[in-house]
Amino acid sequence: MLTPLGLTPSFGFGDRLGLATPGHIAAVKGTKFAPIFAQQSVRENTRTGRTPQQVMNDARRAVEAAGWEAPWGADADHLKTVDDLPPFVKAGYTFYTVDPGEHVDNAADRDRLSVLQEKVKGFNWDELPSIYLENPVERGFGVFEHDSLLRAVVKYGKAIRHATGMYQHLAQFMDGFDFEVSVDETDSPTTALEHYFIANELSRAGVRFTSLAPRFIGRFEKGVDYIGDLAALDVELARHAAVTAHFGTYKLSLHSGSDKFSVYPLMVKHWGERLHVKTAGTSYLEALRSLAMVEPALFKQILALGLQRYPIDRASYHVSAEVEKVPGDLELPAYLDHFDAREVLHVTFGSALAQFGDEIQAALVRHNQVYTANLLRHFRKHLDLLG
Ligand code: ZN
Repeated sequence: MLTPLGLTPSFGFGDRLGLATPGHIAAVKGTKFAPIFAQQSVRENTRTGRTPQQVMNDARRAVEAAGWEAPWGADADHLKTVDDLPPFVKAGYTFYTVDPGEHVDNAADRDRLSVLQEKVKGFNWDELPSIYLENPVERGFGVFEHDSLLRAVVKYGKAIRHATGMYQHLAQFMDGFDFEVSVDETDSPTTALEHYFIANELSRAGVRFTSLAPRFIGRFEKGVDYIGDLAALDVELARHAAVTAHFGTYKLSLHSGSDKFSVYPLMVKHWGERLHVKTAGTSYLEALRSLAMVEPALFKQILALGLQRYPIDRASYHVSAEVEKVPGDLELPAYLDHFDAREVLHVTFGSALAQFGDEIQAALVRHNQVYTANLLRHFRKHLDLLG
């Protein structure tokens, strides 16, 4: 049943090709996670040439074929403006992820006090000190002082306002939906105290959100494990969990959540059941792994194109792979286990689909058992660690 998932632990399975849901169903069956089977951002739709309705239809067809009767959701991901909303609403999406990242003032981290004081004009600064500075109680995520509060307002004030506007717009013509606010793609990490500020201001504005995706420290790049200091992240995730425990009304959401095998045990330790994990491109990489196994000539063409397109296609992604580091002589399918090759293949999907889309689709339909088996193995590895 397609429905909002509320606070149930949940897992997002983005599927760029429309053929992965059988593998996703096989992997999630019997776990505690409520699945999102349709999940696509506006950016991905642009690159894949698919509409929100097509993404929904592909997921629904597979759900019906598999006889999946438990709840599942559909995530309209990384929505930036109100104009992005209508096609997702029309197609019946249940989960709306609003990304006000463009409205986050990353420079606030380093601005001088005089600059912050200038920038804060136009915000509701007058009422905030009495809310945040009087009688501070330490609850495991720190307490605001005048300067840190000023910085939080300047950094996130506009983003909160934008997300609130998106929520109000959506609430006008829908009731009963999951609402997520994500600032995960910004340059500056979200401190636990800033996370508290965002959650509290959204709540004060009447926004009923079911998940929130802060930007965590370190690098959560696409399709590869965490890059950064795990001990520092451990401390940070505990502090963010203290914020969610304080409110008790929403889940923490991890974007670019695939392949972060070293991080999952920390998430389970601190966040428990209150989590949502989003994945997308990793299913595309399993499609390419399947091709590398059974259609090596096609895979080699996709890799060659990817190496050529990567310098351009990487532009809107947080990735650090270098073309020069992709070996020329790996045995197939070992490219799918190589850091640089994975990122190159991951962010060039739009180019690959534009040039080889029909061949890729046909090959995956022909070899659907291989694809489903690869997805099952890959996602069981994720879900076992998160279980
Ligand atoms: Zn994201």
